[in-house]
Amino acid sequence: MGANCCGDDVKFDGMDPRYRRALLIVIFINLAMFLIEMPMGFVGDSQALKADALDFLADTATYTISLAVIGGSLVLRAKAALFKGVSLSLMGVWVLGSTIYYIFVMSAPSAAIMTSVGLAALLANLASVLLLMRFKDGDANVRSVWLCSRNDAIGNLLVIVAGSGVWISTTAWPDLIVAGIMASLFLSGSVAIIRQARQELSGVSPKVRPH
Ligand SMILES: [Zn+2]
Repeated sequence: MGANCCGDDVKFDGMDPRYRRALLIVIFINLAMFLIEMPMGFVGDSQALKADALDFLADTATYTISLAVIGGSLVLRAKAALFKGVSLSLMGVWVLGSTIYYIFVMSAPSAAIMTSVGLAALLANLASVLLLMRFKDGDANVRSVWLCSRNDAIGNLLVIVAGSGVWISTTAWPDLIVAGIMASLFLSGSVAIIRQARQELSGVSPKVRPH
């Protein structure tokens, strides 16, 4: 969920090998959770699970790209951020579009799948938080990855709450509302990232971040 926080702030410079290893494990956890959660989103007919799965994919891509462009030029980094921003906006449009579509279809999401997969996602993000915890007082980049996993854990709680809401209300509304919230976070995050990247590409180094 932290589309606003898992953004272009993640720029690694010279790095502690222990932190690098922790980060590689976090990347693997994010990728594994995307591969589990996306099919389960389709099986359970849950838009919130699909949106949460996309967040894992986005974080996998962000951390991998950030590691890959260490020591790269500012232009390369800004282009990587631009790519991330555009992907994020496509994700937001897809989640928003399919959520609106499901408002008319109103299929019944599986509350059991939502809560159990949401719980697995929560554990995955908590594991990431624990892995990164001892580095959190490091530089700003370490801190932003840590904050990002923490905010994603809060998003997972929202999915679990939505699952309970689906169970209690026997409607798809809690699922669609949480998916809508996630889509708007993707979109607002993408706008901020694209704006920042374009400023960096045009040679203007902004003193104040746009978000
Ligand atoms: Zn995230």
